[in-house]
Parts: sequence; C-alpha cells; structure tokens
Amino acid sequence: MPPRAPCRPLPADGRFLQSIAPTPLVSVRLHEEGPTIWCKLEFLNPSGSTKDRIARYMLEKAWRLGELHPGGEVVEASSGSTSIALALASAQMGLRFTAVMPEGVTDERVLTIRAYGGDVVLVPRGEGIRSAIAKAAELARERKAFAPRQFENPDNAEAHRVWTGQEILSQIPGGLVHGVVSGVGTGGTVVGLYQAFAEAGCPVTPFVAKPIAGLGSDMECCSFSSRVPGVVDGLSTLYRQADLPGLVELNVSDEVAMSTARALIRRGFPVGPSSGLNYAAAVEASRQLGPSAQVVTVFPDRMERYFSTELIQPKR
Ligand code: PMP
Repeated sequence: MPPRAPCRPLPADGRFLQSIAPTPLVSVRLHEEGPTIWCKLEFLNPSGSTKDRIARYMLEKAWRLGELHPGGEVVEASSGSTSIALALASAQMGLRFTAVMPEGVTDERVLTIRAYGGDVVLVPRGEGIRSAIAKAAELARERKAFAPRQFENPDNAEAHRVWTGQEILSQIPGGLVHGVVSGVGTGGTVVGLYQAFAEAGCPVTPFVAKPIAGLGSDMECCSFSSRVPGVVDGLSTLYRQADLPGLVELNVSDEVAMSTARALIRRGFPVGPSSGLNYAAAVEASRQLGPSAQVVTVFPDRMERYFSTELIQPKR
C-alpha cells in the first residue's frame, strides 16, 4: 500500500522511547501443584505499563503521517495507564497532552500525568469512561488536537501484533504458543497478541479473563469490578470487531484476582490487580489445554499505581 502522506522522520534528540529493550518473558509457577505460565513483564516499561507500547506506536505513526507536528496537542480519554503512557511519550516528543478522566481516579494517576507536564480534565463520575470518551472527542475537535482513540484505533492492536507479540515469539521456547490470556480494556493486547501468534502458525486459542464483582466492590458503569481497573465491559469497537476464532471467556472473581496479585507481589513481581486476574485465568486456560501447552499472559502494570487502594491496604 502506498504511504498516505510524506513519511516524516521522528524527533531524535535524547529520547529513549526508541531504545526500550524487550521486556522479560518469565515462567511463573505460583503453586507447587499448579502449571507454569509464561508471563510478559510489561510493568517494566518506562511509564510502568504495557500502554507505553501503544502510546509510542500510535503517536509515532501519526507523526510520520504528518497528523502530529512539533508542539501539537494530543487528547485522550483513559482512566489510567494509557494517559500516563501518552503523557510520557508526549513529553519525549515535545507534544502537549490532555487526559480526560472520570472523577474518582486515584491521586497517583492525576499527579503522575501532571508531573510529565500533561493536563487532566475530570468529568463527572456518573457514566465513567463513557463520558470521558465523549468529552475527549469534543475537546479534540475544538482544539484540532490528535485523538489516539485507543478503543477504536487499529494501531493499538497493531502495536502488540508487530512488537510485543514478536518479542514473545522470540523469547518462548520453540517460538510456540498454545494459549494467550488477557483481560480486555480496549482489547488491543489480546487481539494483537492472538494475531501475532496465529500469523506465525501457532495453534493458539485466545482466552479472555473477566473479573466478577464480589461483595464489597463497587460496580461502576462499564467496569466489571472497581477492584480491577482497566478491564471494562463492552466499550471497545476494536475488540467487538476483531476475529478471535475459538475464543474462550474465563470468569475470575475479583477477590481471586486481588489475592493472586498479592501472591505475585510476595513473589517479587510488583504488579497491579489485572496481573492477578490474568494469571488466575491463565492457570484455568492451562488446565483446559493440558500440561504440555505453553500459555502466555501479560502483567500489564505496576503495584505503585495502587498504593491507596485495597490491593495494598486491604479493608478490615
Ligand atoms: N490491565 C490494565 C491495568 C489496563 O489499564 C488495561 C487497559 N486499560 C488492561 C489491563 C487491558 O488491556 P487492553 O486495553 O489492551 O485490553
């Protein structure tokens, strides 16, 4: 396909986004009797989450295509990790960044974005991320800003297909993946990784982990459980339109997601709740696929992002 616009070189001075090393892929067995799961340590990316991949990929593509210019503005709706990653990538690329988030997000998130020089616009909590998406679209239109639109932008899944997925294929024994497991926020992770493994010829089954809210967790709009932020219900066009043959949905109670995340932290993996969700679901995927199957999952983000939450300060 011919390029849609002149391919502009990226700004090069002193940036390190270009030289992010691959994150480790390690085999983790939490319980003596349990299976070994191949875990991609995405919390080791520079802003602390796997969203550094999509932030860099979406902004650099827009830059090359001439949709973003030096000093230009980026506006995105995100309740957390993507905003933080875009704030870091924008700082490195000399861009302005505005995050639109629902009220009630933790101070850690807002302060981190501001520390990178980004702006935060808070919208009423009522409709959660849905009203943030509408507000971000309005602001981007008014300001003629670039809107990455992570919930529909195919470059989100493409980042994982051409980048994270290829890293995993080069790291896992024999380059062979039988199962890929992830919770869905935008769906970029599970869609992109599934495509990478299937295109490489792996006999791979996609598994989607769904947190089930238990006693004491809030049910906010669009999120399955307030205890597992980032994993949301039915928002993503990208995910709805993806072709995931043989998809298996795995329910995991939010209590189990949290206790598994705490167990991972005690093993020295400083992860957030969605890593616990992913690991617990991957154990079930491995049980379904059999003992010789190589099952891959992702640890998306870091525990420091959850210091003020139940993950680190359990309710008595
Ligand atoms: N875990 C966390 C902490 C997240 O923030 C997200 C995405 N918002 C996910 C998991 C899900 O990843 P994806 O958007 O690629 O489906």
